Amino acid sequence: MDVILVLNAGSSSLKFQIFAVGPTGLERQIKGQIDGIGVHPRFRAADAAGATMIDERLEVQAIPDLPAATRALKVWLRGLSGYSLQAVGHRVVHGGPDYSAPVRIDEVVLERLRAFEALAPLHQPNNLAPIRLVRELAPDLPQVACFDTAFHRSHPAVADFYAIPRALHDEGVRRYGFHGLSYDYVSQRLRVVAPEIAKGRVVVAHLGSGASMCALKAGKSVDSTMGFTALDGLPMGTRPGQIDPGVVLYLIGQKRMTTAEVSSLLYTDSGMKGLSGVSNDMRDLLASTDPRAVFAIDYFVQRCAVSIGGLAAAMDGVDALVFTAGIGENAPGIRARIAARLGWLGAALDEQANAISATVISAHGSALRLMVVPTDEELMIAQQTLALLPPTI
Ligand code: ADP
Repeated sequence: MDVILVLNAGSSSLKFQIFAVGPTGLERQIKGQIDGIGVHPRFRAADAAGATMIDERLEVQAIPDLPAATRALKVWLRGLSGYSLQAVGHRVVHGGPDYSAPVRIDEVVLERLRAFEALAPLHQPNNLAPIRLVRELAPDLPQVACFDTAFHRSHPAVADFYAIPRALHDEGVRRYGFHGLSYDYVSQRLRVVAPEIAKGRVVVAHLGSGASMCALKAGKSVDSTMGFTALDGLPMGTRPGQIDPGVVLYLIGQKRMTTAEVSSLLYTDSGMKGLSGVSNDMRDLLASTDPRAVFAIDYFVQRCAVSIGGLAAAMDGVDALVFTAGIGENAPGIRARIAARLGWLGAALDEQANAISATVISAHGSALRLMVVPTDEELMIAQQTLALLPPTI
């Protein structure tokens, strides 16, 4: 069976999926991850039916870093029979200003992607490490980079600039936008499940541990809440979202914090975790009676409502709001609270449809269509990878 391997390498985990390339399209075969890399590694994988194929805790010396995890994955995959690996598709967080589409990786591309490490120092090196290793192990195996930024390269200039000296824009200080693989997938799904809506003005709310929103006009991204990094926009599990840069100056100038300390505060100690002091996980906050957890949810809903208003203004109106990702797909209570703030846009929720996370959750006659469309970033990567392979596969 011809298969495509999808890799999504983070700071402490290597997530992977295997898709079969069949006559009717891509079919998910295996989903797994090696997490706790360098701390307490655990290798898990399940087949398409959800049955466990492996669940092993490994010695930290065996999996001290990402290349070691990639090697362990290679050994495990080799032990499976019946799969013929045709290509590897990688999630790469940053495609810089130039890449507006996925790209086959060669030495020149790899060098350009390395230059974007400065733009995403916490993510890009991790994304590139497995690419290098696969090139060493199997130089002829096609590899494709699929970018979180690419889908947003259709932004008009007014959504791509900061009001700072232009020279900085020219050297790459721009509003890139992220979660592009998710938005690309949702945009495609909308064409299938709601073709009329797909032609119109849609705000997609990707609400997970990382959270952002995207303004889609006729399926193309025209604005997004994230900017130069994935810190901007909505409050997230551990990131603050939009913050006055003066706060950062205060932390450095008055509190004498180092760059590393500020970075850690902004990436890992803020957001829902920092506000609530309870948890970064929305499930914990919803279950908690702690007033700080209640406040964190109020804050999240407030910022979502404000952002939807902003993105609607960017499109001169909005026809639909689509929820996706962990919170967007699974938390009816949060969806209901956000919808309740959108009466001024004509939104009316169908509570029963919302309770079962139906595709359309707005009431009949609601001027704003409310929808839930589960995202599938890995399938998007597999599709993008397949599209760049020779047609014989
Ligand atoms: P990421 O891919 O960014 O890690 P996900 O899209 O998987 O994140 O979303 C994870 C988050 O979704 C969790 O942290 C949790 O807050 C939220 N979540 C998942 N399931 C539920 C649920 N049933 N109710 C509320 N929140 C949920």
